[in-house]
Amino acid sequence: MSRSESIDFKNLQLIFMDCIFCKIIEKKIDAKIVFENKEIIAFKDIHPLAPVHILIIPKKHIVSINDVNVEDAKLLGDMIIAARNIAKDLDIAENGYKLLFRTGKHGGQEVDHIHLHLIGGAALHEEIRPLEVDWK
Ligand code: AMP
Ligand code: ZN
Repeated sequence: MSRSESIDFKNLQLIFMDCIFCKIIEKKIDAKIVFENKEIIAFKDIHPLAPVHILIIPKKHIVSINDVNVEDAKLLGDMIIAARNIAKDLDIAENGYKLLFRTGKHGGQEVDHIHLHLIGGAALHEEIRPLEVDWK
């Protein structure tokens, strides 16, 4: 393998990129943190869509679901377990909630650091539909 091939471009990207969620991890910007361990941090969404809206993120900078690899499987599982535990702590487990990974342009992903939305605290709308395309 040549020297250039061995460069981890995702990490290189981190150095030059302004990732708002990495700044929250590094405590360079404030967030209302509800859970943290060595691998994961969870905090309140700044523009909540429902009474409970938490973002669960890995401390490792991964852009999206499209960028996870096999070694990240445990991390993703731990994010789901963290979401489950937070839902219990916030007393919304019994009534239920949604977990959502937006991915890429069509998925509506705005922050390029993978995050799992935990949304609940009220009955949620069913609707997920194309923005403009009449596809039926
Ligand atoms: P997505 O559209 O799935 O990429 O979601 C990004 C989410 O991050 C949105 O719901 C934003 O409200 C939320 N968000 C952006 N900046 C912050 C921040 N500084 N603290 C907390 N949540 C944020
Ligand atoms: Zn990041």
